[in-house]
Amino acid sequence: MIREELVFVGVPDIAGRLRGKAFPRADLEARLQRGVGWTPTNVQITCFDLIAESPFGPLGDLVMIPDPQAESRVDFQDGGPADHILLGDLRELDGRPWLACTRQLLRDALERLKRVSGLDALMSFEHEFHLKGAERPHGDAYSLGGFRAQADFCETLIAALRTGGLDPDTVMKEYGADQYEVTIDPKLGLRAADEAAILREIVRGTAERYGDAASFTPLRNPAGVGNGVHIHISFRDEEGQPATYDPDAEHGMAVFTGAFIAGVLKYLDAIVAITAPSVVSYTRLTPHRWSAAFNNLGFQDREASVRLCPISAQEPDAIAKQFNFEYRAADGAATPHLALAAIIHAGVQGIEEGLPAPKATHYDLSALTPQELAAQGYIRLPQSLPEALDRFAGNATVTGWFPEGFAQLYCQHKRGELAFLRGKSMEAVCADYEASY
Ligand code: GLU
Ligand code: MG
Repeated sequence: MIREELVFVGVPDIAGRLRGKAFPRADLEARLQRGVGWTPTNVQITCFDLIAESPFGPLGDLVMIPDPQAESRVDFQDGGPADHILLGDLRELDGRPWLACTRQLLRDALERLKRVSGLDALMSFEHEFHLKGAERPHGDAYSLGGFRAQADFCETLIAALRTGGLDPDTVMKEYGADQYEVTIDPKLGLRAADEAAILREIVRGTAERYGDAASFTPLRNPAGVGNGVHIHISFRDEEGQPATYDPDAEHGMAVFTGAFIAGVLKYLDAIVAITAPSVVSYTRLTPHRWSAAFNNLGFQDREASVRLCPISAQEPDAIAKQFNFEYRAADGAATPHLALAAIIHAGVQGIEEGLPAPKATHYDLSALTPQELAAQGYIRLPQSLPEALDRFAGNATVTGWFPEGFAQLYCQHKRGELAFLRGKSMEAVCADYEASY
């Protein structure tokens, strides 16, 4: 069959999907300048394809400009087409960034971090997902058997990630039924979110090559194990040296690290609407699911929203380099760029406010009464998407981090998603998200 290679340029949109258009590879140079056309109302296409209320209606035009810094080409060498993806930016026709360009929103947050603290952020997204077709019996958690059952997939996945320009770290059979996890090396700034978006597509593409399907849905069934996305963050100073750790401070948190984490925890109830943005996210974010249910810092505690990660290094320089913290209240329904923008803004807000480093909790917060929680300065995170959206929309500091009109657009989008699910059982809702993510 005759064939011509196509390139897909897509934007990580606010539904957490990569949406875009394909063009002949021969046109790539020209398209890097000219872009491809895009419609403002596309931003309101929810994860169920239904278009939420849009202030733009059928009007207006945008241009999607592919970024050669965010290119991934994977030829699986199975005779099928290569997966050739470029992420793009959404601009107005006069070249100005569009208000809902998620890559631009992240750039804005990173620039604010740099301006306020002089720091760059080094980050990595740790992804959990499940293979829908696997249907293995129970008893596979972390096992060699469970790994071997998908060893072909795992090996192709690692090769595909590397070919696509990412640096694979580990792959494992996770605890949940048919659940796997893949990690990649951390990257600076925008690149970290770009790689998270690319990784999801490579995982899906690899599963499809094996006649299977991967899903990053936050929760496959109400009683099951959640798929989390844990975001690891550390800082580099202007010389590129590690700047997260202070050996003399409590739990090793340098002043900016402590203030950053304090900001994330202070604004957490208002940003989960962005980092855990599906209906099923809020069943995952409940106590004893190893996710996050309160706005607490944990020292090596997997039920804390922010966890100080373990250090295996022994030498001071190596410890400083390895020291990082992990945001656990995120999932695969979130756009990596938007989630990171919200987390970075919250952290920088904490730095600007000069917040003291939080104390780490060492006990089960779910055992406390609401009064006891409040007395210690903790809150239970929102327990539903509508509640999370209200906290987001109601927090003027948080909505003020984004361009005028963005918060309203985001809430309208999510309300459209909610409308699609109205009246459905939790099982049906889980199935809808599993099909979408
Ligand atoms: N599956 C858990 C989650 O939903 C995380 C388990 C782990 O700590 O890796 O976040
Ligand atoms: Mg895990």
